Amino acid sequence: MTRTFDAIVIGAGQAGPALAGRLSGAGQRVAMIERKYLGGTCVNTGCMPTKALVASAKAAQTARRAADYGVVLSGGVAVDMPKVRARAHTVTMNARNGLEAWVGGMPGVDLIRGQAAFVGPHEVEVNGERLTAPKIFINVGGRAVVPDFPGVHDVPSLNNTSIIDLGTLPRHLVVVGGSYIGLEFAQMYRRFGAEVTVVEKGPRLVGREDPDVSEAIQAILEGEGITARTRAECISFAPHPDGVAVGVDCTSGDPIVVGSHVLLAVGRQPNTDDLGLAAAGIEADARGFIKVDDQLRTSVEGVWAMGDCNGKGAFTHTSWNDYEIVAANLLDGDSRRVSDRIETYALFVDPPLGRCGMTETAARAAGKTIRVGKRAMTRVGRAVEKGETQGFMKVVVDADTDAILGAAILGVEGDEAIHAILDTMSAKQPYTTLMRTVHIHPTVSELIPTVLGELK
Ligand SMILES: Cc1cc2nc3c(=O)[nH]c(=O)nc-3n(C[C@H](O)[C@H](O)[C@H](O)COP(=O)(O)OP(=O)(O)OC[C@H]3O[C@@H](n4cnc5c(N)ncnc54)[C@H](O)[C@@H]3O)c2cc1C
Repeated sequence: MTRTFDAIVIGAGQAGPALAGRLSGAGQRVAMIERKYLGGTCVNTGCMPTKALVASAKAAQTARRAADYGVVLSGGVAVDMPKVRARAHTVTMNARNGLEAWVGGMPGVDLIRGQAAFVGPHEVEVNGERLTAPKIFINVGGRAVVPDFPGVHDVPSLNNTSIIDLGTLPRHLVVVGGSYIGLEFAQMYRRFGAEVTVVEKGPRLVGREDPDVSEAIQAILEGEGITARTRAECISFAPHPDGVAVGVDCTSGDPIVVGSHVLLAVGRQPNTDDLGLAAAGIEADARGFIKVDDQLRTSVEGVWAMGDCNGKGAFTHTSWNDYEIVAANLLDGDSRRVSDRIETYALFVDPPLGRCGMTETAARAAGKTIRVGKRAMTRVGRAVEKGETQGFMKVVVDADTDAILGAAILGVEGDEAIHAILDTMSAKQPYTTLMRTVHIHPTVSELIPTVLGELK
């Protein structure tokens, strides 16, 4: 027997539950299928637990720096890892339980626990049962890539899911992958008290950022005692009496780093390999990302793909925006598009990197004539007052049009202050609008107009 719905949502990540809510509100019968936990990556193994852990790591760091602020601690700083883990787990569980209650209370929504796979263009199978609907929304997210480095299957390794459950302090954590996810774990574990080495294949950390951003982040991490091994062209793994021997370099430096634990953070892949896409005729690219148009429609009519699985974004806010686009177009008579959004994200090391739009490198490569404003955080009053003066802010402006092309704020409150620039870009206002806006004193944002007044 096949059950018929108005809509099927596969995956309860960031986009799925909210869309199910809108469809239910419009009186539609919806099957919401989830194979593991409501909330997906962000709530359970991504943003929420990691940002909770980053907060614990920051508390440890601030305690270590207490004397700088004239605060006297009697005794040293110790980190209670089970408590740190429990705190992060509570943050996750509160969010997951909230989602359970929300989705559970949606009229007309059947929450089905199980692994869904397409058996036809508008038919999926879950727990041996067939479901059909004229509209199907895919929100299956992604998972950590296991790289095919030699020996990777001969040693124990951690990923973003298992490291969150660790609850103990590694003696020496080797983080393979010096990009967004890897660096957040590297810094937090260093602050918890572990020795940490970051092994990165490329010539610099976070290679998608401008070189000055990469260099500043590397200096910040090295200043806390993290070792960065870039240009690691010979990554391999072998068991070692003290843990795992990670082959790093064939030409310079120690060829091997021995760690007690290894975290693999070399990228994400979409959860589409077991989704039966071929049975439905849904096209994916060579890496498994579902091909979608600007309104998130797949190659099969009546099937949409939202979130990380479509390769158009890799963030919670992009998945959420995908939901907004699909809901607006289907239910509100709107015509919203993915290409309307400006790329923006943060790297939550401390101090954080807030980013929006193009990098300086990308703007130059695109042949733009640019003017750049840059200011060290040592010249930002609020940063000085807080005693957190690492990093800088940089804004890139199109010299021909006065439009802001992009910005990077690596510094205290950088993840918040970047929004002033993002919003100006979104409003399609020239940089002069932001330059003439009076900001609150003393804030980090207050210096953005000053930077714009000093473009070169
Ligand atoms: C360590 C880490 C930290 C991160 N930090 C941030 C951050 O600070 N800010 C940020 O914006 N982003 C962050 N991200 C990225 C963010 O978590 C993801 O971009 C976001 O969760 C993607 O959401 P999604 O809706 O695409 O899918 P997901 O949240 O991945 O959810 C997909 C859901 O689909 C389910 N599913 C998969 N296949 C099937 C199937 N066949 N049948 C049924 N169910 C299925 C899964 O179980 C999962 O619950 C982080 C990621 C990681 C790994």
